[in-house]
Amino acid sequence: MDQRTVFPIIFAALILALILCAVKAFRNRKPIGKQLGLIELSCTIPILGNLLIVASSARNVAVAGYYLYFLGMDFFILSFVLFTDKYCQGIGNGDHKPTVMFIILIADSVQILFDTVFDHGFTVEVINVSEREYYRLVPYSGVYLHRLIDYIIFACICSILILASVKTPRLYREKYLVILFLTVAIAALQTYFVFSRKPIDRSMIGYGIFGMLVFYLALYYRPLRLLDRMLSNMISDMPEAIFAYDPTGNCIWANEPALKLTHLKLTELDHTKEALVGIFGDREFTQSAWTESRVVGVGELARYYTMENHPINEDTKHLAASFLIIRDTTDEQRRIQQELYASTHDSLTGLYTKQHLFSCAKRMLAKYKNVPYLAIFVDVKNFKIVNDIFTTAFGDLALQQLANWIKADMNSHCVYGRLAGDTFGVFMPRDDFNAEGVEEHLGTFAVSDGKIEHHLLIHLGIYEITERDIDISVMLDRAHLALSSISDIYKTHIAYYDNKLRDKILWDQRISSGLREAIETKQIRPYLQPITDRRGRIVGAEALARWIHPELGFMSPASFIPVFEKNGMIAEVDRHMWRSACETLSSWSKEHKDLFISVNISPKDFYFFDVASEIESLVREYSIEPSRLRIEITETVMINDAEERMSILHKLRSKGFIVEMDDFGSGYSSLNLLKEMPVDVLKIDMKFLSRSSDPSKAETIVRNIIRLSEELKIVSLTEGVETQNHFDKLSAMGCRLFQGYFFAKPMPVDEFERFTFGEKN
Ligand code: C2E
Ligand code: MG
Ligand code: MG
Repeated sequence: MDQRTVFPIIFAALILALILCAVKAFRNRKPIGKQLGLIELSCTIPILGNLLIVASSARNVAVAGYYLYFLGMDFFILSFVLFTDKYCQGIGNGDHKPTVMFIILIADSVQILFDTVFDHGFTVEVINVSEREYYRLVPYSGVYLHRLIDYIIFACICSILILASVKTPRLYREKYLVILFLTVAIAALQTYFVFSRKPIDRSMIGYGIFGMLVFYLALYYRPLRLLDRMLSNMISDMPEAIFAYDPTGNCIWANEPALKLTHLKLTELDHTKEALVGIFGDREFTQSAWTESRVVGVGELARYYTMENHPINEDTKHLAASFLIIRDTTDEQRRIQQELYASTHDSLTGLYTKQHLFSCAKRMLAKYKNVPYLAIFVDVKNFKIVNDIFTTAFGDLALQQLANWIKADMNSHCVYGRLAGDTFGVFMPRDDFNAEGVEEHLGTFAVSDGKIEHHLLIHLGIYEITERDIDISVMLDRAHLALSSISDIYKTHIAYYDNKLRDKILWDQRISSGLREAIETKQIRPYLQPITDRRGRIVGAEALARWIHPELGFMSPASFIPVFEKNGMIAEVDRHMWRSACETLSSWSKEHKDLFISVNISPKDFYFFDVASEIESLVREYSIEPSRLRIEITETVMINDAEERMSILHKLRSKGFIVEMDDFGSGYSSLNLLKEMPVDVLKIDMKFLSRSSDPSKAETIVRNIIRLSEELKIVSLTEGVETQNHFDKLSAMGCRLFQGYFFAKPMPVDEFERFTFGEKN
């Protein structure tokens, strides 16, 4: 086959291959894909031009081939510029687009096209190649200019590539140098053919190969050397110690940290195994895959390591190598331990936090199933005062000293922690608790900062854990509840939760939950107890609450009033009692029965509502004369906010209400108080007399109280009058009003009405 057949076939094959490359490049997702596709396509045009030149025998076709060649060359260089721009992106040519080069190339294409008009570019001459006519190029100024431009731009491309290869880290240099080399090679090839004036431009084959190589380099080539170097650098720089082993288990390489760890040199790698055993103890450093954690040393000096061995298999059967990674995790472990400590220990006292105490206690109780345990709730009384008086710094110190005391007698069967503020929780075996010793110690427990010493009143509530499956919090709640029995006692420091206490708590809960319904359905209602004058005539009554419970039956106030006094629900009871009393008074006044009813007022009522306006609005609502609704208060009303309470009583008296001082003599009655108290009636408790060890002395006191009250213009009323003898004596002492079983016990309203006014007709 002659050349003029062979070359067109080669050219056509190249064109086809380049088009395939272009399609693949365009479809590729890599950012460079588009520019690469353009280069592949642009390569085909000068080759196509040459194919026409070589293959045709017609002059016009050859000339058209030359035009295609020149224009194609411009297009190729333009694509190459674009490609280089993208390929070298980020290496310092910034955002400057190669606009000038574009303009020059386009201008060159235009001047080549103008050759069709001006004939300034080139012409063709006929020569004989393989006995056939061949049209060889005869260049004029237009083509010289074109070549000059192409060379200049080639030179620019080469400079960009050189610049990029210089600026990039050494490892990546290869990437640019390969393209640079190809560019220079193709330019040299082209030059050779231009100046040799060979009839067939073989440099086109170079273009084809160039196109394909660039395609491969840009999309698929991974410089292995680069990868090698990168990996080995990475491994050398890793903080972990890494040892590489050959298949027979000989250490063949170790990185810097590995050498440091084993105190070996690269030349002493044969001793790696002995060195590792020396550090980590005897362990089979086998080639298989394994991981292990080891602690070397103890206490503060302990260091933590994790070891991982990784085999590298050539295929499923043959081991190619293995590598061992040893990581020093000491810092990490220390941090984890510190975080764990901080999350489980109270920062002030160093004791367990509440949550941690709960989980440890749970575990402990499960572990020693058959050991009787105590749950102890430790509380500092009036700790707020310690903070207020001696500063919070002293308060903190007090808590620390208390924590130290708690810690002192503990053993491995005990767990303890700070629950909150000034309360602590302890779980310990019952037999380890020395109640007498603790009681004795707490009697004199004092905290001191060297200058100030302060006695701390500490109460211990103890629940002996009889039910093991209840929540830890419930156990401590029970221990806490035990404290209520000694809350006002200063001599006893330890209180136990027992069945009596539990029953009382259950009772309190039961009656408290039933109160609302009891009021609505009038299960709670007033019983009236007559109050008489000296002649035994009934002048009024005291309303006393009774609860006729559907299940528990008749209940006297002793079983529920104290409960409601404690939780504040007494206010509801009292309001209901006052309203009931008003209803009764209202019906009496309609029948012109001018008796009074005394109602009880609890000190707690003052916290929940405005007592004065409540009572006023009730008498207004029922159109009752205020003097008919008498108000019984006790001295305890005056314990808090005495001035305000006085003014309320003054206000009530000014509105016409009669205020009675109840239970005088049973509490801490003070005669001093009496002279200031805005009261109209003094109710003297007979218990005062009967309880006294020296009745004659007590009688003298009662006589004088009666006399004093008369002098102060306060009416005296004795309650608890049980016998004729009582009545006679008290009358002789000058007492004016009487209440007691001697006359009648408290009774339902209708019964009282029958008792007092006789049967209705
Ligand atoms: P209190 O107000 O001092 O009522 C007098 C108590 O003495 C009544 O007990 C009454 O039944 C009892 N009593 C009367 N005469 C005699 C007697 O001759 N001998 C003896 N041993 N006792 C006598 P009660 O009804 O059990 O009430 C006890 C306390 O409960 C009352 O003492 C009062 O403090 C309180 N209370 C009763 N009802 C109410 C109420 O509606 N509201 C408030 N806040 N407290 C009430
Ligand atoms: Mg009373
Ligand atoms: Mg009383």
